[in-house]
Amino acid sequence: MESVIVAIDGPSGTGKSSTSKAVAAELGLSYLDTGAQYRAITWWMISNGIDVDDPAAIASASGKPVIESGTDPAAPTITVDGLDASGPIRTQEVTSKVSAVSAVPEVRARITELQRTIASAAAKVAKGIVVEGRDIGTTVLPGADLKIFLTASAEARAARRSGELKGKEATDLAATREALVKRDAADAGRKTSPLAKADDAVEVDTTELTLSQVIECVVALVEEKRAAK
Ligand code: C5P
Repeated sequence: MESVIVAIDGPSGTGKSSTSKAVAAELGLSYLDTGAQYRAITWWMISNGIDVDDPAAIASASGKPVIESGTDPAAPTITVDGLDASGPIRTQEVTSKVSAVSAVPEVRARITELQRTIASAAAKVAKGIVVEGRDIGTTVLPGADLKIFLTASAEARAARRSGELKGKEATDLAATREALVKRDAADAGRKTSPLAKADDAVEVDTTELTLSQVIECVVALVEEKRAAK
């Protein structure tokens, strides 16, 4: 069977990660969380005392960290200079700074190259890959076999994000909604490779759907594509 490359984009809180992982696991595909890579480079910048509001400083350091992603959907991993970064990249500090770091063109060029290398390796040796992010269908893998753009209302997304954070950090629905809307605006408004739906992407509005319904819908779309190949 030919391999398949699936791009899943959309803002946070749309169920992108849970859907992408579950679809990849169900279909025996690899999985790449590109947000984790941008979070990892942001964590490295913070840890090394680089001012995230200084794009020139970020640009000149962007080639330094060694970022490695494990693509098993059952146990995805992310390391920076050999250190496990999966915990530190989810802190509020990283979340609040990642949009500034990921807007720097040199950072995007570096991470985009990594993503393309991982995707082409998975397409050669495995059944294919599900790559989730913000610009996968538009910029990173414009030739992907299937592009999905997940959306949901800001209210639904904030409620889901608050649920995920519960117990980990102090949460407040209004504050979560505000932070999320601010991050979306920064991601969609940046000059280089903004969050956007590719013209040929299938849009799935998840506001009224359960996670299982979204997974079922995306699995069906991938199977349809595979059958047509
Ligand atoms: O998906 P997640 O919330 O982990 O992404 C964190 C951040 O990484 C996003 O807010 C965005 O700034 C950046 N990102 C990006 N391009 C991608 C994936 C994530 O700029 N393909």
